[in-house]
Amino acid sequence: MISFNQPTLAGPEFDYVAEALERMHLSGNGAFTKRCQRLLEQAFGAPRALLTHSATAALEMAAILADIGRGDEVIMPSYTFCSTANAVVLRGGVPVFVDIRPDTLNIDEKKIEAAITPRTRAIMVVHYAGVAAQMDVIMEIADRHSLLVIEDAAQAVHADFRGKPLGSFGALAALSFHETKNLMSGEGGALIVNDAAMAGRAEIIWEKGTNRAQFHRGEVARYTWVDLGSSFLPSELTAAFLCAQLEAGNDITARRLEIWRRYDAALLPLEAAGLLRRPRVPQECGHNAHIYFVLAPDAARRDAALKRLSEAGVNAVIHYVPLHSAPAGIRYGRMATDLPITDDVASRLIRLPLHSLLTPEAQQEVVAALAEALA
Ligand SMILES: *Cc1c(COP(=O)(O)O)cnc(C)c1O
Repeated sequence: MISFNQPTLAGPEFDYVAEALERMHLSGNGAFTKRCQRLLEQAFGAPRALLTHSATAALEMAAILADIGRGDEVIMPSYTFCSTANAVVLRGGVPVFVDIRPDTLNIDEKKIEAAITPRTRAIMVVHYAGVAAQMDVIMEIADRHSLLVIEDAAQAVHADFRGKPLGSFGALAALSFHETKNLMSGEGGALIVNDAAMAGRAEIIWEKGTNRAQFHRGEVARYTWVDLGSSFLPSELTAAFLCAQLEAGNDITARRLEIWRRYDAALLPLEAAGLLRRPRVPQECGHNAHIYFVLAPDAARRDAALKRLSEAGVNAVIHYVPLHSAPAGIRYGRMATDLPITDDVASRLIRLPLHSLLTPEAQQEVVAALAEALA
């Protein structure tokens, strides 16, 4: 079986975890957490980065920081993971789903303005497969309507738009270091705080609503409950593991890009023959090879192809059930308009195996199996 994903070690993980164990500071916000946060602050040019136990947690922090309250609307794509919407719903807010672009599968920036109402507070952007949404247009719309931009950059570590890192555009951005992401620590994530005015409160929310971090820096005489918050910190063991991955990040991304490009070249003839459509990456987007997907000509051929790929020993998978058609999405969210592109793409998309250990030979097998499955 050619597996869809295989978590890969960068190398120093064991040594770093051993170092954390020797230091015996195992709760959060120790030396490795600070080292990771410094690396992220440098990479994003952000005043503050806070490690979390997941992107889900970082999105929840973002919704608290954005002061999303009962009935507040947040514009987002439906073609995303449920955590994007859950963060809003947990504050009593309403996700408002906007259709995606057929090329990048990201929120269609031309459809955002029509979805804005007096209740709209924020736009949540998802960079699907590490390919950027049109951030220049989206930031301009947000500015004009005084809306906050939150980037769900869970898939977008090491990707950029016009050379600027994804996750550095919105006031806030969430990263994921889940085992299935490019850089990982099993479970893990980070909140990137690009708006310096939010940095102090972010740290308080992160530390259960207390000013503990300020206390440890000697800025206040004692620590106490000062605001909303929860337990969003990962342990030092997780941070130690993550540190190894962050430091090797460029190599890991380069290896994935090589594999992505090999698929892209090998699948060109199948696209030319009308059997599938390959991903479209606009000129201004530097992507990170998080996902290699193809679109089958229709839903029936997609479903048949998945079955045949599985029989051929290739673990290819679909992606999201669009949130607007999921039970909780129907209950808690609403569609700005019909979402024909989202429905169509979700029914035709196939993700191919992609991980650092995938060999050129295995890729040839995948391509051959796909050609047969779609023929
Ligand atoms: C993976 C992912 C998440 C959730 O990440 P966790 O770290 O598992 O919480 C959220 N949004 C998107 C777009 C993702 O791909």
